[in-house]
Amino acid sequence: MPMSKPASSAEIARETLKLLMTRRMAPTPDNYRAIYGEIAGETEKADDAFPERELRALLGALPKEIPQQQRLARELEQAIRNQNWNDWRKTLADYVAEQGVETSRGWGELIADLMRHWEAKQANITPARKRESLEHILASASSNSDLLFERLQRLVKSWAANRGESGDIDLVDGEMTPLEDGASPSPRAPGMAASGMPSRASELLPELRETFAFALEAAVIGQLKDEPELAAEARNLVVMVRSANTLQATQELLTAVKRLAYRLEFVAEDREELRSGLLKLLQIMIENVSELVVDDRWLNGQIAIVRDIVARPMNIRAINDAEHRIKEVIFKQSQLKHSLAEAREALKTMLAGFVDHLADFAGTTSDYHDKIERCVEKISQADDISQLESVLSEVIDATRIIQLSTQRSRDDLNASRQRVEDAERRIHELQEELDRASTLVRHDQLTGTLNRRGLEEAFDSEFARSRRRHTPLCMALLDIDNFKKLNDSLGHDAGDAALIHLATTIRETLRPQDTVARFGGEEFILLLPDTAIADAEKALVRLQRELTKRFFLHDNEKVLITFSAGVTDFRPDDTQTTITKRADEAMYTAKKTGKNRVVIG
Ligand code: GH3
Ligand code: MG
Ligand code: MG
Repeated sequence: MPMSKPASSAEIARETLKLLMTRRMAPTPDNYRAIYGEIAGETEKADDAFPERELRALLGALPKEIPQQQRLARELEQAIRNQNWNDWRKTLADYVAEQGVETSRGWGELIADLMRHWEAKQANITPARKRESLEHILASASSNSDLLFERLQRLVKSWAANRGESGDIDLVDGEMTPLEDGASPSPRAPGMAASGMPSRASELLPELRETFAFALEAAVIGQLKDEPELAAEARNLVVMVRSANTLQATQELLTAVKRLAYRLEFVAEDREELRSGLLKLLQIMIENVSELVVDDRWLNGQIAIVRDIVARPMNIRAINDAEHRIKEVIFKQSQLKHSLAEAREALKTMLAGFVDHLADFAGTTSDYHDKIERCVEKISQADDISQLESVLSEVIDATRIIQLSTQRSRDDLNASRQRVEDAERRIHELQEELDRASTLVRHDQLTGTLNRRGLEEAFDSEFARSRRRHTPLCMALLDIDNFKKLNDSLGHDAGDAALIHLATTIRETLRPQDTVARFGGEEFILLLPDTAIADAEKALVRLQRELTKRFFLHDNEKVLITFSAGVTDFRPDDTQTTITKRADEAMYTAKKTGKNRVVIG
């Protein structure tokens, strides 16, 4: 179409618009620029324009999986910014060459490479890290050989590059490149690179989530057999992990994960305590098992309790308890053995002495009789007095000997009697020593529960535990109702048996981690860790009910034992004295208001 050449750029612009309309072209910037150039006679320049838009689109579509590709992509981006066609062409050629290397390798070569780099030392990648990366790839891509090939290849490349970044997490690099801003939207589906591989960390989220859920199921829940509550929490978390799609759900998930992790920390701590407790226990047993010659009622009882503790599910309190009891058994056993051995030794010496003296005496007397007999014979055969004289002096000699021997025997007998008395006194002293030593032990000898000393130690550790973990702790003080009457009517032994019956029922009704101690005559103190006051009250009521089911039998007569109890919870400023006082006051209220009751203080 002939047209006159417009003079100013304003005129060119006007003409351009007119022409766009007559040609019915869309008024896009590109069309405008093309027509403008045509009218201004700058068609050549328009044709030469750097194809920035197209190149960006192309760049957007290129895979940027590995560091090498990412570096080249950054250089391409730079070439676009500088509108430097030569740089672009050269870099793109490098890029294609790089791709060629990627695809021309076979499995054999890849495996050879993998082996080589597996064995080679990399400055920043530990062998453990390598194994972890490899296992991750094998676990996630082994069902798809192309994918596996590609990932292994990337892994080997990253090892070869030895930059301290492992190949399977180079996605972070991908996200940090400036390629994303300014690049045209890529034609591929969102979240997937051209190769079908994720190119951004966020694209791995579904896989990460699934792996996390799997780790929870396989590694965490499997370890929580003894913690059903925690296992349920972890299972709940698995469901949350798999379904958390919204921001809010993810935030809730995060809170739940933190909570579980926090609780798992305690489980780990407990297990560590448990493990070292068990080891210590085992050590003591091995060291002392040969010493355990049990011939005492108390020792038998203690051993039975330890056996019972070990048979039940373990917790740290039970192990500590078993450890203390075994130590006490060993201590008491050694005392008993010591005193018995000494007494036996003394008796043996005495007996040996008697036998010696008896033999001496018998020897001397038979000798004497022989002599006297011989003398009597000589006397009967004697013809004159001179003969008799010699016989008489023989008799006198023999009699002197027997007198001396008798004297010696008497002296020896006296000495022996002295030794017997000494031995008896020593045994008595040892018995007293043993009784004194028994007060040093932690357990009540009648009921096998903790005594006051044991209770004090239990107080200390339970208080510390509750403070450290911010877990509730309750204390109950219970006192048998009308115990004096039971003692008076059935006798003191029946009273003792009733105390044992109550202690056994308490131990078998409460949880293994609860502490039971005999506080005084017919008063017991219970420490209930991880227990809120309402639950502590329920536990005491359960105990009351249990006592009405398990009768105490005396001479085949059923005797009902009841108790009154005060229950209170541990408060931040509490000491043993203050908490015990509160429980005691509550118990007293229970007594005043009719007995056989549980009152909260
Ligand atoms: P309440 O219901 O008010 O508690 O009356 P109670 O009779 O139980 O109380 P009290 O304190 O008057 O009597 C407690 C009795 O417990 C006195 C004592 O003879 C008896 N007792 C204390 N220790 C033992 C023990 O080791 N064995 C026996 N058999 N009796 C004991
Ligand atoms: Mg009392
Ligand atoms: Mg009483």
